[in-house]
Amino acid sequence: MADHDRAPEALKQKVEEWVDANHELLLDISHQIHANPELAFKERAACALLVDALNKAGLDVESPCGGLDTAFAAEFGGNAGPTVALLAEYDALPEIGHACGHNLIATAGVGAGLALAALDEELPGRVRVLGTPAEEAGGGKELMMRAGVFEGVDAALMIHPAGFNLGAMPCICMSGVKVAYRGRASHASAAPERGVNALDALVMAYQSIAALRQHIRGDERVHGIITDGGQAANIVPDYAAAVFFVRSPFQKGLEKLRARVQACFEAGAAATGAELEVQWAPVDYLDLRSNLPLEEAFVENAERLGREFIPKSKMAPMMAGSTDMGNVSHQFPAIHPMIAAAPMNVSIHNRAFADHAGGELGDAAAIDGTKALAMTALDFLYSPSLQERTRNVFETSEAR
Ligand SMILES: [Zn+2]
Ligand SMILES: [Zn+2]
Repeated sequence: MADHDRAPEALKQKVEEWVDANHELLLDISHQIHANPELAFKERAACALLVDALNKAGLDVESPCGGLDTAFAAEFGGNAGPTVALLAEYDALPEIGHACGHNLIATAGVGAGLALAALDEELPGRVRVLGTPAEEAGGGKELMMRAGVFEGVDAALMIHPAGFNLGAMPCICMSGVKVAYRGRASHASAAPERGVNALDALVMAYQSIAALRQHIRGDERVHGIITDGGQAANIVPDYAAAVFFVRSPFQKGLEKLRARVQACFEAGAAATGAELEVQWAPVDYLDLRSNLPLEEAFVENAERLGREFIPKSKMAPMMAGSTDMGNVSHQFPAIHPMIAAAPMNVSIHNRAFADHAGGELGDAAAIDGTKALAMTALDFLYSPSLQERTRNVFETSEAR
């Protein structure tokens, strides 16, 4: 990054000093959210805690926001110039709590906002702190974009914890789907000929998808679980249901794969006579278009805190997840870098990761994440050349 792409050094130092002086406040936020994991759209305590922290810093906060009860928005800064958004996620996973470490995302997003608000300085732009619920399910960010909450944003920044430091999370597109079959119950021994077996329909669909998997691209994924498979072995099941995720690197591929999976569902219905109900999720998760100039600024800021980043080329190509930040990155310049909050061999969505997200490595990630996000926001606000490169890269990245 060239010198003219950086914010004044004195301001970055002030941000670092503020975060160090307030590390107890920040870690308390992280630990409280970690200790009380809440699922998508139900993150009431986390949302209230974060709104309260912003209020105590003298900021007005809108919550609910964008039609979502557990979303919030706060904005401050100068009256002219670009707008940088700092994003906070805070939903957890069923059974395994904060195994995706969203308590750290919340702390860094809100913490960076607090650090910038504490600067005794008229900023040459605006800062919008957004609380974005329901990343693990439901696509909160997409819903907030549809409601106009991101309008006017010139750069959207967040961090995500991982077992390593990496400039951008490898991401692919994803569609979720609930499928159900309705048949007719009957005595499974005395009158099987009167039954229509919903479980058979679902098992055929499941097996069709298993067969399909050999003939899809190596970088595509279909995976699912059966959530209802009948009530008793002596009753022909009149209801069976499942949930699947369908993933492909880009949107066009996702649409094609979705049609093939839909055909598998229909095959189960055709074979058994059960009635099919398919509910594709209203929000697809899109691939991540990490904005390179912003990403480089973030990496440089995190490196100055002593973090070492692994080159993206060293990542195994199929270690990809999905995030609703991908959707944001299609509409606005955005980054979603990973910050190490656990040892390399501990992956997210696993109980051991949840332990680290509330432990020492998680604490260090929350503090470094807060600093690096705040410094990157400053770089953007203070550098017209970084703003221009960010915009140019965003406008020339083609839809694939
Ligand atoms: Zn996750
Ligand atoms: Zn996550």
